[in-house]
Amino acid sequence: LFLTFEGPEGAGKSTQLSRLTAQLAQRGVPCTVTREPGGTPLGTRVREVLLDPALSIDPLPEFLLYSASRAQLVANVIRPALARGEVVVCDRYADSTLAYQGAGRALPDHLLRQITQAATGGLSPALTVLLDLDPAVGLARAARRGHPDRLEQADLAFHARVRAGFLALAGAEPARFLVLDATQPEDALAEAIWAAVAPLVGA
Ligand code: C5P
Repeated sequence: LFLTFEGPEGAGKSTQLSRLTAQLAQRGVPCTVTREPGGTPLGTRVREVLLDPALSIDPLPEFLLYSASRAQLVANVIRPALARGEVVVCDRYADSTLAYQGAGRALPDHLLRQITQAATGGLSPALTVLLDLDPAVGLARAARRGHPDRLEQADLAFHARVRAGFLALAGAEPARFLVLDATQPEDALAEAIWAAVAPLVGA
């Protein structure tokens, strides 16, 4: 079972992801937790490059770097874990590319989908939790963490396009997406996520 978390900066993805994996562990469900960009030695190096505030990266090479990280992660981590029968939970995946590099950076959708298909071999999550949040609220939350990464320095209009992109993806595939208002209390979010995941893991 392959599950992904998506959403803007400051939506609380990491918090909810660890709450879900704690629930799974408590019930003895074998689980692999990973993230994008990252999750492999190559991906971790690519992540450092992508998030470096000192670098200027054009949209096409940016997209190709995310795709490189993704291809390595799918082949070396996600597919092997799924083959072992584990639940795989990934912090960001292909939807982030369609939202950030598509809606955000205006790269053509067909290009994004073609390379993403090559990077993933068509592997798509069974469930995607989208933590939806007004980007102004999210960026303010993220700013409180300090040390803004390269993307957190982008303008609000960019992040508004990304949010609209995520919501459009969810609208196009309502069966795959669980869209939650990320301003809800942490416990309410965790409960809603568990209610969607529990039946999928037979818990
Ligand atoms: O969620 P996390 O903070 O790990 O994401 C890392 C950064 O990469 C975020 O700033 C996010 O906006 C950005 N990102 C992106 N395009 C993607 C995936 C992530 O711009 N496809």
